[in-house]
Amino acid sequence: MPRPIQVYIDQNALENNLHVARRSTSARIMAVIKANGYGHGLLRVAEALSDADGFALLDIQDAVRLREAGYRQTVLLLEGFFSEDDLELVAEYELTCVIHSEWQIKMLDAYPKRAALDVWLKVDSGMHRLGFSPLALASAMEALRRHAAVREITLMSHHACADEARGVAGQLTVFNEVAADYRVARSQANSAALLRYPATHGDWVRPGIMLYGASPFSDTTAQQLGLKPAMTLKSRIIGTQDLLAGDEVGYGGRFRADRSMRIGIVACGYADGYPRHAPTGTPVLVDGYPSTLLGRVSMDMLCVDLSAYPKACAGSVVTLWGAGLPVEVVAASAETIAYELMCAVTARVPVVV
Ligand SMILES: *Cc1c(COP(=O)(O)O)cnc(C)c1O
Repeated sequence: MPRPIQVYIDQNALENNLHVARRSTSARIMAVIKANGYGHGLLRVAEALSDADGFALLDIQDAVRLREAGYRQTVLLLEGFFSEDDLELVAEYELTCVIHSEWQIKMLDAYPKRAALDVWLKVDSGMHRLGFSPLALASAMEALRRHAAVREITLMSHHACADEARGVAGQLTVFNEVAADYRVARSQANSAALLRYPATHGDWVRPGIMLYGASPFSDTTAQQLGLKPAMTLKSRIIGTQDLLAGDEVGYGGRFRADRSMRIGIVACGYADGYPRHAPTGTPVLVDGYPSTLLGRVSMDMLCVDLSAYPKACAGSVVTLWGAGLPVEVVAASAETIAYELMCAVTARVPVVV
């Protein structure tokens, strides 16, 4: 028997979530599959989302893998190219590039003559991460329009607060003002903007997190949005302990029993991607029953409370997150976000489809 931890990827859930996105917009859908498809597996995700109009990611080798697997839709490099060497592959595999900085426009002079390049010109509408300032946009646009290598230009921006109470209003105004000068396709919306702000949809929307079945909002659950979790992390209890009042559990004796109680030791730790900073009280399911984490998470193990479920024993299935236990809830308890937990599952955890 191998160590019992596994991560289940539900391709039907991915498909369902893409349909939710489709129903929410008439724009084309650029499925964001960066970071190994938010930890779900690049090609596994592409297969389930093969109906998408495009795929967006960062790593040029991943883009090449998509092409070699036969995907013909737009493949967008979200940070564009990083060096002249990349340009050969961009041309050969007909990849679309975000252009976010002046140095990239200069580097384009080295673009191979044989193929035309589609670009997504990024304007910084207020997030102040990547992109040309509204003032610098006109000259960047002009340079790309005149550039022999460039075919189509799409204008894009990214929202900092679409998932929060602040929303998109400020950045949307900035974007619309700069975009008004150009007759090009537009793209701004991440999952949150796609679900909540139709005015941001434009020609292309760029959902990520919602495709994996997590809600981008703290005030609306994935279930309320019609989304299904695509990733479920499960393991089993491999040992139990009967504690007496005063007994301490795990490193640092972080948890101390205030009564006699039974606990389970689960084959899952931070080396599997479970967050080490998750505190006592973080929810888990044991054979489907709600329970909680106790004490510090170790590298390969964690402990759970079995007080409310005395039938639990070695072999009982423990759901760390996913079906029945939204990853957002676990993430909130660990003071992080669903995105980080999904991306953190490590290579040693076997994947089951
Ligand atoms: C990651 C990313 C997205 C997707 O964001 P979600 O919040 O996961 O929907 C969209 N656009 C850009 C530029 C991104 O980097």
